[in-house]
Amino acid sequence: MKPVAICALCVQNKMALEQKILDELKGKLVEEKTKLENDLQRIANPTGTPGDYETKFEDLGTDSDENATEVEEYADKLALENDLEKQLKDVLDALKRMEDGSYGFCENCQQDIDIDRLRAYPAARTCIKC
Ligand SMILES: [Zn+2]
Repeated sequence: MKPVAICALCVQNKMALEQKILDELKGKLVEEKTKLENDLQRIANPTGTPGDYETKFEDLGTDSDENATEVEEYADKLALENDLEKQLKDVLDALKRMEDGSYGFCENCQQDIDIDRLRAYPAARTCIKC
């Protein structure tokens, strides 16, 4: 078997393409991060730890009716907050992985994550098979 020669220009092109895709995905992640942070700020207060929030409890009044509404709203917000916080954590992790160069690999099987999957969901941690 003859060794396959790798053309330096091809490697360069491939890297340039990958950088372009990475930039595109990074843009999406930053956009997503801003959106999630805005959503979270409406219902929660940042705790000081990046990406960590505490659901706001609104004091509507002291009536038992009002208290029941407060608790109900709080439970709804808590569920929403947890969900948004989880999404934000994925986005922050993905941005961190971009920094250290481990972005785009499946956490499970260490294979490349399909670029179409990353385009659809840039914060993906695992490949389509896992
Ligand atoms: Zn995998």
